[in-house]
Amino acid sequence: MDYEGFFRDQLTALRHEGNYRVFADLERKAGSFPSATRHREDGTHEVTVWCSNDYLGMGQNPKVLAAMHEALDKCGAGSGGTRNISGTNHFHVLLEKELADLHHKEAALTFTSGYVSNWAGLSTLAGRMPGCIILSDALNHASMIEGIRHSGADRVIWKHNDLVDLERKLAALDADRPKLIAFESVYSMDGDIAPIKEICDLADKYGAMTYIDEVHAVGLYGPRGGGVAEREGLMDRITVIEGTLAKGFGVMGGYVAGSAAMCDFLRSFASGFIFSTAISPALAAGALTSIRHLKTSQVERERHQNRVAKLRRELVATGIPVMENQSHIIPVMVGDPVKCKMISDWLLDRYDVYIQPINYPTVPRGTERLRITPGPMHSDADIAHLVNALSELWSHCALSRTAVAA
Ligand SMILES: *Cc1c(COP(=O)(O)O)cnc(C)c1O
Repeated sequence: MDYEGFFRDQLTALRHEGNYRVFADLERKAGSFPSATRHREDGTHEVTVWCSNDYLGMGQNPKVLAAMHEALDKCGAGSGGTRNISGTNHFHVLLEKELADLHHKEAALTFTSGYVSNWAGLSTLAGRMPGCIILSDALNHASMIEGIRHSGADRVIWKHNDLVDLERKLAALDADRPKLIAFESVYSMDGDIAPIKEICDLADKYGAMTYIDEVHAVGLYGPRGGGVAEREGLMDRITVIEGTLAKGFGVMGGYVAGSAAMCDFLRSFASGFIFSTAISPALAAGALTSIRHLKTSQVERERHQNRVAKLRRELVATGIPVMENQSHIIPVMVGDPVKCKMISDWLLDRYDVYIQPINYPTVPRGTERLRITPGPMHSDADIAHLVNALSELWSHCALSRTAVAA
């Protein structure tokens, strides 16, 4: 077997499909987000980032940085072990208490990432419960799909956000079987939001547990940043709330929140929790500070929503086709993989605007897009520059515009 040849052939195939990923080499500049320095062969230049998941800019919040510096100096670089073997630092304990309080749950458990929390949480819950069947939304994130697959449990996929289909599938199952409905609140590619209350009603009716991924909502929605379920007064109806410390909270790590018994169960049985080194004390301290800050401060959330609304308005006024949704994610629809990549390249090279193209298989073919995530630090001038750049490229690529109301 020609191993190296095999690797190269696989990559060549990916390139032919237009799916080969190229990373932008950036240096984010704390204190001046969303600015970053882009490194290229021929030197560096300044760009404005328009596709970050550090939605609120908490990754440069002075209080968060100070807490991380302090914890680094106090506790050192790493945690020193798994949670069970010398790796539990006091900051992990405080962080888990804070997360439990955020979601009004008895307990919370942290993982090294949101990906791992979904993978370990779903695979352990469904895998260890005899006869459990998972009802998974068709557009669930890869980390949920992998967790479900790894659980070995039976699974039923229901049509995205479709309550009729979910109920039909619940009704067809044996009433006595344990069931887990797994879904997200904000779906990251279309930016649409699940009917959480109605899903909980169905869960009650059919005796199912509920598992919600609030990764794209924690920090951003709800009076204390508890997510869409908090905003809608539904947190107590969800069995497991899963989130990340890496997006709205701007740091790194993942978690689940729920009953004391459920969290203790995952703590005791989830391989992805038990056998991996705990996140560094500095990360835990930074996340703790970020969560505490966003529990009381509305400034970031308000400014965030203001920027999203303004950019959306201006794009629509220019006839740039934008997918409608009720969230902070603005999908600008290109509908062609080559043009999508080309526009992204030109934005970067000619306008110093960084937006990663989103092509198949992340989204269905024909729905290739630029996924724009405005943040509180994008200025009016940043918005004007972006809208002008997109408008010029739209004309250049002869892409169609939507009708603009006079
Ligand atoms: C990003 C993401 C995750 C993974 O979270 P990380 O902390 O980045 O590992 C999980 N679920 C969804 C829906 C995501 O978009």
